[in-house]
Order: sequence, then C-alpha cells, then structure tokens
Amino acid sequence: MTMESTITDAQLAALAASMRGDVILRSDARYDELRAVFNGMIDRRPLAIARVADEADVLAVLAFVREHELPVTVRSGGHAAPGHGVIDDGIVIDVRDMTGVVVDPEARTARCAAGVDWGVFDRATQEHGLAVTGGRVSTTGVSGFSIGSGSGWLERTWGLAPDHLIGLRLVTADGRVVVADETQNRELLWASRGAGGNFGVITEMTFALRPLGPIVFGGPRFYPMERATEVMRAYRDVMESAPAELGGGLQLIWAPEAPFIPQAAQNKPCVAIFVFWAGDFDDAAEGVAPLDALGAPMADLAGPIPYADMQAMADAAYPAGKRDYFKGGFINHVTDEAIDDMVRHGESIMAPLTNIILLALGDGTDYARYTEEHSPIGPEARSAGWTFQVLSIWSDPADDDLHREWTRDVAKTMSSYSSLVMFPNFVSIDDPSRAAEAFSPAAMERLRAVKREYDPGNVFNRVVVPLGD
Ligand SMILES: Cc1cc2nc3c(=O)[nH]c(=O)nc-3n(C[C@H](O)[C@H](O)[C@H](O)COP(=O)(O)OP(=O)(O)OC[C@H]3O[C@@H](n4cnc5c(N)ncnc54)[C@H](O)[C@@H]3O)c2cc1C
Repeated sequence: MTMESTITDAQLAALAASMRGDVILRSDARYDELRAVFNGMIDRRPLAIARVADEADVLAVLAFVREHELPVTVRSGGHAAPGHGVIDDGIVIDVRDMTGVVVDPEARTARCAAGVDWGVFDRATQEHGLAVTGGRVSTTGVSGFSIGSGSGWLERTWGLAPDHLIGLRLVTADGRVVVADETQNRELLWASRGAGGNFGVITEMTFALRPLGPIVFGGPRFYPMERATEVMRAYRDVMESAPAELGGGLQLIWAPEAPFIPQAAQNKPCVAIFVFWAGDFDDAAEGVAPLDALGAPMADLAGPIPYADMQAMADAAYPAGKRDYFKGGFINHVTDEAIDDMVRHGESIMAPLTNIILLALGDGTDYARYTEEHSPIGPEARSAGWTFQVLSIWSDPADDDLHREWTRDVAKTMSSYSSLVMFPNFVSIDDPSRAAEAFSPAAMERLRAVKREYDPGNVFNRVVVPLGD
C-alpha cells in the first residue's frame, strides 16, 4: 500500500532536469526493475528513484527531499536482506551509476565510487596483485557492505572490509560535502567502519589494500552428510589452532545438482568446506594440509584459482529475486553438542540454496587484533572464536512462514551456544535494531556524538539503528 503524494511529476521532472542522472517515476517502464532489491520478499514503491551520476546529483536530490520533507534512502548493491535500499513513498538515491575504481599500487590503496560492486572492485585491484576483504558474493555493493560488518573469506586473516576503510566523501542531509580520513573528520571515518548508513550519502571510499594473488589456493570440498559430525569436529579442531592465513569456512547446504557430485548425493544436505589459503601461494600446500587430513571429500573443487574468480564462485548460488531471511551470531567455542545440533538442523534444510555457515575467527588473527579505537565493532564481537549465519533462500511466497520458522528455530538453538552480539550486516527484517549489539555502550556514546554532528535530523537511519534521540 503506498500513499498518494503531494509531489507532482512536474516537480520531479524539474529535479531530473537539474541532474546528470535520471529520475525514474512510478510510470516509467524501468520502475519495477529498478525498485527491486536482492531480496524478493521486499516489495516497496518509492515515489521516485534518483539514479545519481555524481556528487552534484546527490546534492540536488538531498535539496529536493529537504524542500519537500520526503523520506530518503540510499541504494548501492541492494543486498541488505531487510531491504534498506528501498522505501515506500520516498526517494531512493540509487548510486549504481557512480562507478570507477582507481588503484594506487605504490600506496596500496583503492578509491572507488559508491556504486561499485565487489566483482568490479576485485578485478581492478587484482590487476596489481592487491585485495581487501570482500563479499562472498561478488554482486554485493562495496559501499553498503563496507559501512557495515563487511566480512568475507579473508576476514580471519586480515579483518573486515571496514577495518581497511581509510577515507570517504559523504554528503550530509543538509548539503555539506565532508571528507573523512586520518587527518580530518576522523570520528566520522571511525563510525563508518561498521555503523555507516546513519550519517549521509557516501559518494566515494578509499581502502588500504594488501598483496594477494592473482592466483590463490581456494574452493569448496564437499563431504557426505553421513560424515558430518566427524568432519565438523575435525574442522573445528584444525581451525582452533590454525595459522591466521587459513581462511574459508564450513557450510551445511544441499550438494548441487552438478556433474562433479555423485548422483546419489545431489540435492541432499552435505558438508561443504570452503578451503582458502590467504598467505603466500608457495606455502598453500603445507597450509591446507591439516584440512587434507579430513579424508577424501566426495568432490574437491579446491585448487589454484585467480582470486577474483574465487570471489565470484558462489554467485550462481545466490540469484537475485529469491526470498531471503537471514540470522547470525557469534560462538566462543564450538562444542560437540553444538555440532550435533548443527548437524540435526543441517539434515532438515528444505531448499537447495539455504545454508548454515560456520566461520572461524579467533586469537592471533587480524580480525581479533582491531580494537574499538579503530572501529565501533566491539570487543565482544572481536573476541569470539567463531561466527555463524543461517541463510534461508527460497522461491515460493506460500512457503514464507515455513522457512522463516525454520531459520528462527536454528538461530534459537545456536544462540544457546553464542554470545549476544551479531554482525550488523546479517540482521533480519524483523530485528534490524540488533545491529547495534555489535557496539559497546562506550562506542554507542561516540556514535551518538557523530550522529549529532553529521545527521542531527536522523534522516539516514535505516542500516544500523536510529542513533539520534
Ligand atoms: C547473497 C548475499 C550474500 C551476502 N554476503 C555477505 C558477506 O559475505 N559478508 C557480509 O558482511 N555481508 C554479506 N551480505 C550482507 C550484505 O553485505 C549487506 O546487507 C550490505 O549492507 C549490502 O550492501 P549493498 O550495497 O549490496 O546493499 P544496499 O541494500 O544497497 O545497501 C544497504 C544499505 O547501506 C546503505 N548504503 C549503501 N550505499 C550507501 C552509500 N553510498 N552511502 C550511504 N549509505 C549507503 C544504505 O542505507 C542502504 O540502504 C550478503 C547479502 C546477500 C544478499
């Protein structure tokens, strides 16, 4: 249900005339395509979608929403499961046409426009053998990802994407263009390393890069569900003492209907271990050897691969437009009992793309080394040994309740083993305020001060949590 608006098409046409980019109205043939976000459960009808082409366009749209007192949101990759990138009856600032990545190989930095996704970013940085922790699905937007918890296959080894954010340009709701880096507006930079989406529209971000690839050792190994308990216990034991360079994770998921999987095991739950050595390629064989000791998998796709291709490997498993419902949390120690529970839930997975994912973090990793001085993501999250996500993905709206209930049930079981916080990027539509749990009371105080300085009117409040009073 959408509201009648007092804003006329003529007023929106005047906005469009003042911009380089387009303004898409409800009557436009592309309206439905452009208002759609990744999660097919989200069906919102903005008044208009402003396809901003540059910072001047962002300023023009924000002046328009100020003048007409309209709600506004920002959309980049559109992956936020709660659909933060689209709103009813307001203006969507769609940054996808703001593209471009500039890599400085000497300084090991990359500056990217707000609309770039991880596929584009990784290919640009990999030309120079450089990278930063990126999404496990390459169609995720760099900006929405990195102002939240931005976790990926490299998180254990290097820390999160936001840990590497060293600069940004942001337009505030009242039309100020702000540059934040180590020399100016440092509190805004700090706040944007996890609690972004609350201060303005980011037009550009700069990341510190590290050497990696272009060829790395990575990919999934599939084990039959009958071996799940044994494989998961062995994986836990390996990862709890593994060097930080051993990244990747473990998934309970249906084995795909693919020629590399024995026919009898296809479309049934299995254990998939994503093997990834994030250190020197020459050390990879020795580095992953403890995982080789888990015994022969039923299919082994791990091997030398260009890093950018590895990052896009899961894309086919996450098509846009399916129905998504996610939950997640942290576990300090994965007990045998927790594994038994995960296996039980893994056996009951009902849809081919749904999965339960378990990722090792832990002492001695760069993830654990970043302090609250560097990023608002607090000590409770940083000290956890493991993180898990329950990602339910299905097609039929008639099955919504079934899949949501299943997801809640799994998350409830897992939460009996877990700490209370969660990664902001994995909040679900029914508990978006949980994103604030990753921030300690002291960090929250600091965030409130940043909020008061850059967005006192609480115009941008849809990603993490309303910080204004
Ligand atoms: C298939 C899939 C896989 C995922 N995998 C991972 C993963 O591996 N690790 C992980 O951490 N998360 C993951 N996520 C979660 C995802 O990273 C977050 O939801 C993230 O916020 C998505 O960013 P986006 O730009 O794609 O989404 P959007 O929905 O476009 O953006 C999310 C919100 O971020 C804010 N935002 C975006 N761009 C800007 C900007 N330029 N300025 C100001 N605010 C902005 C807006 O408020 C927007 O509403 C995954 C999600 C999906 C659907």
